Amino acid sequence: MYLKALMLQGFKSFPEKTVLTFDQSITAIVGPNGSGKSNLSDAVRWVMGEQSTRALRGGRMEDVIFGGTAKRRQTGYAQVSLVLDNSDHRLPREENEVMVTRRYYRSGESEYYINRDAVRLKDVSELFLDTGLGREGYAIIGQGRIDEILSQRSTDRREVFEEAAGISRFRHRKEEAQRKLERTDENLLRVNDKVDELE
Ligand code: ATP
Repeated sequence: MYLKALMLQGFKSFPEKTVLTFDQSITAIVGPNGSGKSNLSDAVRWVMGEQSTRALRGGRMEDVIFGGTAKRRQTGYAQVSLVLDNSDHRLPREENEVMVTRRYYRSGESEYYINRDAVRLKDVSELFLDTGLGREGYAIIGQGRIDEILSQRSTDRREVFEEAAGISRFRHRKEEAQRKLERTDENLLRVNDKVDELE
């Protein structure tokens, strides 16, 4: 699996539709200070479901939308698509190429797509579980992330290793099953109360 392309439109300092294509070798992005290098890694993080505005170096989610300049009006939405080569099927999809898209409007509405099908944020997060990509992934080491990992609680640190070992998916499923069990217990309690009332 490797990153084939990144498409941005209205994201941070990229008002125009911008397409970057990558091959399997090493890619370096160079440019003067403030030219938008970090905005590109923010875009990769964002399209994979990042919800923390701090991680995206902004105050509000709206800050990811191109805010306009003296010469150019602000845009109404930000959109980023990520195309991954999936010929090794590391992503749990049959397709050899997977495109993930996120769109965010100034009104606060969010949309996610996987290969052009509208999906939920949960589907995007699940797609990337155990791949090292995604919100909790370690594939992107941002500024300050090393310090953060070293100073984190040991349980938080364990999550980084769980993701690398490929067992996050199971922890995730276990937590979901536990939540369902708790809800079922509560429902059972309510049913028993009703039965008691009727007897
Ligand atoms: P450095 O080398 O200093 O780390 P960089 O190349 O990584 O810089 P970025 O931090 O990616 O640069 O880009 C910063 C630029 O992006 C700033 O000029 C900032 O004004 C612009 N920018 C960020 N968010 C928006 C936005 N919502 N609308 C328009 N421009 C934005």
